[in-house]
Amino acid sequence: MRLDNKVALITGAGQGIGRAIAEHYAREGARVAVADLELGRAEQVALAIVAAGGNAIALGMDVTDEQAVEQGVARLVRHWGRLDIALANAGIQHIDPLHRLSYADWSRVLKVHLDGAFLVTRAALQQMYANGGGTMLYMGSVHSLEASPLKAPYVAAKHGMLGLCRAVAKEGAEHGVRSNIICPGFVRTPLVERQIPEQARELGLSEEEVVRGVMLKNTVDGEFTTLEDVAELAVHLAAFPSAALTGQSVVVSHGWHMQ
Ligand code: NAD
Repeated sequence: MRLDNKVALITGAGQGIGRAIAEHYAREGARVAVADLELGRAEQVALAIVAAGGNAIALGMDVTDEQAVEQGVARLVRHWGRLDIALANAGIQHIDPLHRLSYADWSRVLKVHLDGAFLVTRAALQQMYANGGGTMLYMGSVHSLEASPLKAPYVAAKHGMLGLCRAVAKEGAEHGVRSNIICPGFVRTPLVERQIPEQARELGLSEEEVVRGVMLKNTVDGEFTTLEDVAELAVHLAAFPSAALTGQSVVVSHGWHMQ
């Protein structure tokens, strides 16, 4: 198995992409701390992993809460003695044109993605540096590299996470830490299901037109990226054996974005 005995922390793993990666990591032999704002969701995922023969614990963790992140990481290190892989995945979306966007909504999105990624990074690096290395991963998006209308705070936050990932690659290298960012296209999770009607309303389109004409318009084959696609890439990046692969954004989007 590709992640045998590795200890991994995944934030926002109570559903969607984070959950899929937590389950895939566990199948690859990792011990997984399933962290989420919603402890109940995290517990369900951890139970499902254990029921399938894997090793997992649940952590209630709001990634915007400095103490909660510090305590969560301390708890998992008490439990397993180390931290090898940390994935800053927790995220939210907000749909509004810039001229009507409230400061509160702007700040909320930036806080979860960017402040959250920073807090998880700092806590994880302290453990990884003490252990002689590890892997930082970030859940970016095609929106780390491209913009779309109506999503300014998300686009800004995801671009910011790319910068953080690169900074970690530079600083972490001498401590044996690699850092990469996963950039998916659209994946049908609750986050995306919610924005289909929201975008339809804002753009005056049907939901089908939003899916075909907006979300999947620039893919090579009109297909959604799947949870399995993203989870497989997350395993590959975590398991990669050397620092040849660090500071990179890896796009998994059916060709929506090519770099
Ligand atoms: P989702 O809404 O299905 O799941 C997000 C999870 O994050 C939820 O369980 C939620 O409780 C948790 N969360 C939200 N705020 C949190 C906080 N403050 N602290 C801790 N947990 C919190 O979303 P998803 O589609 O699985 O998205 C996961 C990540 O993937 C996000 O960073 C998102 O931006 C990114 N992403 C998603 C897509 C997509 O098409 N679904 C594409 C590219 C990138």
